[in-house]
Amino acid sequence: YAAKSSRVGQHVYSPGDDSNDKARLRTLHELRVALAENQLLLHYQPKVHLPTGTVPGVEALVRWNHPTRGLLYPAAFLDVADNGGLMRALTRAVLELALDQAVLWQAQGRTVTVAVNLSSRSLADYQLAGIVITMLADRGLPGSALMLEVTEEFLLVDHDRARNILLRLRKAGVMIAVDDFGTGYSSLAYLRDLPIDELKLDQSFVIPMLDDERASALVASSIHLGHSLGLRIVAEGVETAEVLDQLARFDCDVAQGYHLSRPIPAAELERWLDARTAVPAGMRAIR
Ligand code: C2E
Ligand code: MG
Ligand code: MG
Ligand code: MG
Repeated sequence: YAAKSSRVGQHVYSPGDDSNDKARLRTLHELRVALAENQLLLHYQPKVHLPTGTVPGVEALVRWNHPTRGLLYPAAFLDVADNGGLMRALTRAVLELALDQAVLWQAQGRTVTVAVNLSSRSLADYQLAGIVITMLADRGLPGSALMLEVTEEFLLVDHDRARNILLRLRKAGVMIAVDDFGTGYSSLAYLRDLPIDELKLDQSFVIPMLDDERASALVASSIHLGHSLGLRIVAEGVETAEVLDQLARFDCDVAQGYHLSRPIPAAELERWLDARTAVPAGMRAIR
């Protein structure tokens, strides 16, 4: 403890930090095992097109079926993966799972684009675009079967690198979404010269939009901005019918949130999709 606190350039460790470090190291070790033993799985959350009620795509969200701790959510292990050098492997594992699922859905005649999240650290992966393109080709999937959700941070940390990666992917037909739009850097310049298909309004604006005029103004003006750039706007964090109605009035294109469906396993999502299409289109509306 005393030895640690004398290390140059590091803060003084408290015993609490020590146990925290131990927990992180343990999680990192277990995550390595998890990757080798396929303990990661995906849940899928539908994105609902507001004007028609159809489901153009689903977002894949990683979960970890931990042998003793049960089902873990990204908040419990993504940071550890990111800082522990495992993000590359995790991203590849998630892409494999998502694209394998896309093949199954395609064989069932379902036309849903599967969206995968990329951490901003994936930007450092020189092979990323090539690997994605190879994974698609290996499965005979068109690029349009896949959407990648990147953050503003991803786009701005190294703009030229991001641009090269995205242009390569776009050329292969892969779609690109900007996730958590409005929470990152304030520059909007990237919207000018990056190949983006979709803006996802962050849930921190969407959830309070009925009670908070400023949140509401940000949602409305982001929709307007996106539309004037020819982008599709997705609202995430839609938790109530009232928010959904207001988004439809604001001309938002797509909604995603607990009110429509939580992220669920693939088989459950298939039942959810089938139950929706069983309802006559006119009755289906958006709820
Ligand atoms: P995100 O990409 O912005 O995903 C949305 C998060 O909000 C998900 O949490 C989702 O379950 C949750 N959510 C969806 N609808 C609602 C709602 O109506 N209300 C509220 N309060 N929350 C809602 P989750 O699955 O815990 O994922 C958290 C974050 O972890 C994601 O945020 C994404 O940044 C990251 N993540 C998830 N899967 C992956 C992955 O495979 N790779 C990477 N790099 N990051 C991932
Ligand atoms: Mg996302
Ligand atoms: Mg998001
Ligand atoms: Mg978010």
